[in-house]
Amino acid sequence: MVVQRIFRAVVMGPPGSGKGTVSSRITKTFGLQHLSSGDLLRANIESKTELGLLMRSCIDNGQLVPDDVISRLILSDLRRMETSWLLDGFPRTVSQAEALDGAYSVDTIINLDVPFQTIKERLTSRWTHLPSGRVYNTDFNPPKVTGLDDVTGEPLVQRDDDTPETVTRRLKAYQTQTEPVLEYYRSKGILVIFSGTETNKIWPHVQAFLSRKLS
Ligand code: ATP
Ligand code: MG
Repeated sequence: MVVQRIFRAVVMGPPGSGKGTVSSRITKTFGLQHLSSGDLLRANIESKTELGLLMRSCIDNGQLVPDDVISRLILSDLRRMETSWLLDGFPRTVSQAEALDGAYSVDTIINLDVPFQTIKERLTSRWTHLPSGRVYNTDFNPPKVTGLDDVTGEPLVQRDDDTPETVTRRLKAYQTQTEPVLEYYRSKGILVIFSGTETNKIWPHVQAFLSRKLS
């Protein structure tokens, strides 16, 4: 199915809740363009842009990067995209949500509600193909060949911010800074919550919801 009318959605959820995996499935199934704040930041770090170098310590420490920096980066990329899109990892603070609101009207917020204990276990078994943002999990979504990306055959790496201490810090940042964003969108009546511990079980519900929504 390909989206016919303008549709703008955001995928939210704690770190490692499967935002990246669910987003790529939505992209494939519904033909929406996808923008991930984490991928965008990692691409800046990878290509050693001035901004990437500045942001690197924030990210490696499990802290959020400054609101004005990420908001400017995302909003300028959105201007170059098609009118319908899917955002993942942004907004993560109420100030970012307000910045997005000032520029676009968002149809739906898909919140992946995954228990923190599940997340801690999951992030330590996560492997990433940095250039594309594709993620694998040695437990439930392994690559065809251990350590290599399915599409390019390039090596997978474990992200520097996926260490246990940093994961704890990222979950704290999520609770204090991102949970209020859920309240912000709940009050606007566009928040939809999908709870579960496995992406493969959550996904059919997201797919059914979007099929209804877009038909
Ligand atoms: P997931 O694993 O579900 O894709 P994640 O939380 O593990 O999500 P990313 O979304 O890739 O990881 O973000 C990685 C890091 O980049 C964050 O910990 C934070 O430092 C920074 N970051 C990403 N998006 C934002 C944002 N909207 N505001 C501030 N910092 C951000
Ligand atoms: Mg991500």
